[in-house]
Amino acid sequence: MSSLESRVALVTGASRGIGAAVARTLAARGALVAVNYAGSADAAAAVVAGIEEAGGTAAVFQADVSDPVQATALVEAVTARFGRLDIVVNNAGITRDGLLVRMSDEDWDAVVRTNLTGAFTITRAAAKVMMRARAGSIINISSVVGLTGNAGQANYAAAKAGMIGLTRSVARELASRSVRVNAIAPGFIETDMTCELSPAVREAALGQVAMGTFGQPEDIAAAVAFLASDEARYITGQVLAVDGGMTFV
Ligand code: NAP
Repeated sequence: MSSLESRVALVTGASRGIGAAVARTLAARGALVAVNYAGSADAAAAVVAGIEEAGGTAAVFQADVSDPVQATALVEAVTARFGRLDIVVNNAGITRDGLLVRMSDEDWDAVVRTNLTGAFTITRAAAKVMMRARAGSIINISSVVGLTGNAGQANYAAAKAGMIGLTRSVARELASRSVRVNAIAPGFIETDMTCELSPAVREAALGQVAMGTFGQPEDIAAAVAFLASDEARYITGQVLAVDGGMTFV
């Protein structure tokens, strides 16, 4: 297992679910972690407290990544606080599900602004820091539905597919500066985002998973830690599905 000792990592949406697990895992491997959240201040503080109790270093940073001004300021604040920025995990995300013909402009915009524009703005700001340092790893948390599409999630699937295009394009732009950009496409992971789904939808989803079980946030965190590390130093522009065999593409 490659160490992330003294690397500075920003994890967006790290107050709960996958982002919280990513923050804990990166900190356990020695990274100094910026825990971003939008509204869940207590949950974010609890993530930081847990990291500190385990002997790690972390700090909370409130920012709504769907607002380009706040997202840019977030990257600047983290870089100023820790003096560098080595790892960015674009994880913050929301769903506003509905069938296409009933999907409002607001639900389309909210999902695209948070999931895709947020990742773009954070990546643009982080790239400036990382290009100067000639090092860095950016990991975008996409989704299997960005690869396959999903009825009722036109907004979410479009944003997640957009993150893959963003990943591949920016990977090409930044490779010569030794900045790597990859995406992870989680399958069905047990978090707040998925616990609200009806038993019927969960059962149908489980039927698609070759391994027969849902994933845990730690399964995604382990993949993030690998892509962030020097063990992945020759990997860029890739999309790694972590989905128990939901998709084979
Ligand atoms: P979650 O439990 O609902 O947590 C979402 C996180 O994103 C929270 O920390 C939330 O912060 C943050 N967030 C939401 N909007 C934000 C904004 N505008 N600015 C900053 N932070 C914001 O979700 P999750 O299941 O862990 O999902 C994490 C990521 O994985 C998402 O991008 C999701 O699309 C992706 N993903 C999840 C699954 C799955 O099965 N769970 C599958 C594929 C992909 P607050 O707590 O402050 O609201």
